[in-house]
Amino acid sequence: MFKVTRVDHIGIAVKDLEAAKKFYEEVLGLKSAGDEVVEEQKVRVCFFPCGDSELELLESTSPDGPIAKHIERSGEGIQHVALRVDNIENALATLKEKGVRLIDEKPRYGAGAASIAFIHPKATGGILMELSERK
Ligand code: ZN
Repeated sequence: MFKVTRVDHIGIAVKDLEAAKKFYEEVLGLKSAGDEVVEEQKVRVCFFPCGDSELELLESTSPDGPIAKHIERSGEGIQHVALRVDNIENALATLKEKGVRLIDEKPRYGAGAASIAFIHPKATGGILMELSERK
């Protein structure tokens, strides 16, 4: 079994991270937790903590990365919703057992040293959903 404990973050695809950050910092007054490049996902991310949750800005580091493709298809904006789970291995095993279509059957590295895995939008009613476990 597993438990969803909160909305961990909302992932927002942007073309230009530096330009996008200005809105969050200067207009909303949020403080960035710093940038990180996740090579495997061809992405540069910046988290903005917001109470119990965070906003994750994602900029592609390559024209063939998943964020670049998302922006090509749907434009900038919300790309995924991430739920915090207490045990990602158990969560994936349970979802698999229930026949839920997964993008990742095994957890992989996510920004901020989280263990993450994606559930296919076809299984969630159209939302790319990330599961995230943080130590
Ligand atoms: Zn994310």
